[in-house]
Amino acid sequence: MSENGNFIEQIVESDLAESKIGAVKTRFPPEPNGYLHVGHAKSMFVNFGTAQKFGGTCNLFFDDTNPSKEKTEFVEAIKQDIRWLGYAWEKEVYASDFFEVIYDYAERLILAGKAFVCDLSAEEIKNTRGTLTEPGQESPYRTRPVEENIKLFREMRAGKYADGEKCLRAKIDMSSPNMNMRDPVIYRILRAEHHRTGDKWCIYPMYDYAHPICDYLQGVTHSLCTLEFEDHRPLYDWVGLTLGFAPKPRQIEFARLNLTNLVMSKRYLKKLVEEGTVHGWDDPRMPTLAGLRNRGIPAAAVRDFCARIGVVKANSECEISYFEAVVREYLNAHAPRAMAVLEPLKLTITNYEGSEETDFEINQLEENAGTRKIAFSDTLYIEKSDFSLDPPPKYHRLKIGGYARLKNAYIVRCDEAVTDGNGEVTEIKCTYFPESKSGADTSGIKAKGVLHWVDAKTCVDAVVKQYDHLLRDADYAGQDFSERINTESEHVFFAKAEPYLVSAEEGTAFQLMRTGYYKTCRENDKLCLSEIVSLKDNFNK
Ligand code: ATP
Ligand code: MG
Repeated sequence: MSENGNFIEQIVESDLAESKIGAVKTRFPPEPNGYLHVGHAKSMFVNFGTAQKFGGTCNLFFDDTNPSKEKTEFVEAIKQDIRWLGYAWEKEVYASDFFEVIYDYAERLILAGKAFVCDLSAEEIKNTRGTLTEPGQESPYRTRPVEENIKLFREMRAGKYADGEKCLRAKIDMSSPNMNMRDPVIYRILRAEHHRTGDKWCIYPMYDYAHPICDYLQGVTHSLCTLEFEDHRPLYDWVGLTLGFAPKPRQIEFARLNLTNLVMSKRYLKKLVEEGTVHGWDDPRMPTLAGLRNRGIPAAAVRDFCARIGVVKANSECEISYFEAVVREYLNAHAPRAMAVLEPLKLTITNYEGSEETDFEINQLEENAGTRKIAFSDTLYIEKSDFSLDPPPKYHRLKIGGYARLKNAYIVRCDEAVTDGNGEVTEIKCTYFPESKSGADTSGIKAKGVLHWVDAKTCVDAVVKQYDHLLRDADYAGQDFSERINTESEHVFFAKAEPYLVSAEEGTAFQLMRTGYYKTCRENDKLCLSEIVSLKDNFNK
């Protein structure tokens, strides 16, 4: 066996080598009860990626056995998100496509004496399950004759009993050390409108029973899922063996993706949406794929991240800063540069007249990216924080008598600061040096600081949005989720931006020089620059 590839790929490779399977078939199995999140991106990477690697195929399998929570709206959103991430499924399959077959298999189990109709309530079943150290008690209905079980099960289907009045249980082993093997419920009575089958059914199969059947019917060779299903694998195998599946799909579990400062469970994400902590499922702070897309994070960066964190069997938490570092690396290589000033301070050049166009490098890291023209005049804006009346030592930005270079333009010296009644600086006055132009500097003047700026005469107003993480950091990790929510995670600036940003296609990702990576959008017909990821790398390698 080759040493290449993760542990799943090694298993698949040896199954192929031993001719246990023909072509590799996997499935990505979302439940259509919410939006996909970045954890699902990992699951897709594993399922679609493994199939791709071995020339096999992956189905999109909607696990819709839980009608009360599932909706067509989610089905559509899930498909859109998978396409966005760049994966293509072979077939679109629903557990509900197989309801009739799944039912037939249940009758077969009954006929084989491997399942029985139980009259205990959900509560009673729970109370007789035993504990990890004590065996459970057998149901008094366990010994029902086969004919009676078949009759009752058919009556359950026909709607003769109330919800919860009876259920179908597999007859396995009430003293199994694995709780999932203690005569698990495999069918329940539930009157709920199903998003695809409507009210055709009033009994629904349980996930653990339906899933191996659906895998088998799709010809799945490797059923790749997360670690919490490891304890369910004996039941998965029991269903396959008892029903005589050949070849039997093989379940392999891998670790979930957990990210610091983020909550991934759909239940909590729903709460954030419903309580208005965020603007919706696609809020740029959300870890949903719709949120990441809206944030402006490129799908390629998400796939790259999944590839880099690897596929292992031990659960762990990944630093959100690592995810951000991968996104930043991608954008640094691909995003064109532009300038915007978040907290504008007027800079007047007293010895400059008129205006000109200067060459601005689009992306110095990208070969052949070239330059574009930007306007320059005697009135500019720089960041408030790039001037100090009372500078600390080694301050390389502007101070009275100090020099700095204006990016892709000239070196200026600050001569004077104008203040208002409160002592706030409202404008600075500078001298420029005509021989100091970037690319043709013969001035001999040394200026360590390079500042970004915009031309006051041609710039546009822009709303800039910056985001913090939704959850406060690890110091709060022990606390309840709701106490960790950062309610002030969106910051708005009224900025001045190059007019070029208005003409760029909406949704383009830019590096705003010295500020971060931002996506362009429109808000009330106005330019909005929405933060994708900051420039600063907090990731501790
Ligand atoms: P949630 O707890 O967020 O509701 P789920 O597991 O119930 O997630 P499903 O729609 O059932 O969501 O998941 C589809 C597939 O994605 C499953 O195989 C599941 O194991 C996998 N998956 C879900 N969350 C993660 C995660 N954080 N990391 C890796 N895989 C995940
Ligand atoms: Mg689930």
